[in-house]
Amino acid sequence: MSLHLHDITVTVGRGDSRTTPLRGLDAEFPAGRLTALTGPSGSGKSTLLAVAGALLRPDSGQVLLDGTDLAALGPSARARVRREHVGYVFQSGNLLSGLTAREQLLAAASVVGRPARSVRARARQLLTDVGLEHRLDHRADTLSGGERQRIAIARALLLEPALLLVDEPTAAVDRTRAADLAALLADTTHRHGCVTVVATHDPVAEAAADRVLDLAALQAAGGDGGGGA
Ligand code: ADP
Ligand code: MG
Repeated sequence: MSLHLHDITVTVGRGDSRTTPLRGLDAEFPAGRLTALTGPSGSGKSTLLAVAGALLRPDSGQVLLDGTDLAALGPSARARVRREHVGYVFQSGNLLSGLTAREQLLAAASVVGRPARSVRARARQLLTDVGLEHRLDHRADTLSGGERQRIAIARALLLEPALLLVDEPTAAVDRTRAADLAALLADTTHRHGCVTVVATHDPVAEAAADRVLDLAALQAAGGDGGGGA
């Protein structure tokens, strides 16, 4: 599976806060590669992830996932693509607050029809991989922001998505943990051959990436048909 964003323009907000973070953006994201998407705060990294994951529909342009234009699909088809192919790790983690770390993973598997017994061992292994073996049975709402986001990473990896989108995974963790998380994402990408895009401005995460795409530079070169390097 590959992801190709073609001539994407996105406008967000209303009134005075109306802004166009992506303007005529072109970018390709190959399978089996971890792309670090960099750029200053406000440059549109999270917006690009939302568009790539069919959460946000662009004003114009194509979001080609293996040739299928996600921007042209209706809401229910987009929801199905998200469920079946997209692993999304939001900056906030987006967990179910009453469930434990382990239950977050089992619940996500059950939503896509995979019984708990078939994923239990792997769920435990993934939570161990993200350094949460001592938090398996802690409720998410009692954990730190960094711990919650690590649960969200483990949860996304459990379902082996073809498209893995991760927003600032290392922002709330210490440096050693950041390097471990980045290596885990890179390893997973290489083993499963998924398309992985990690929004980050962390040099540690960039170092683990196969390629670095600077959104600010990309927009300057592309948008408005300006051309010129
Ligand atoms: P990044 O993730 O690189 O920090 P974002 O994609 O979150 O950037 O935001 C890009 C720009 O779009 C910023 O100027 C931000 O304030 C604006 N923006 C994003 N989402 C919204 C929204 N829902 N309403 C208004 N402005 C928004
Ligand atoms: Mg962001």
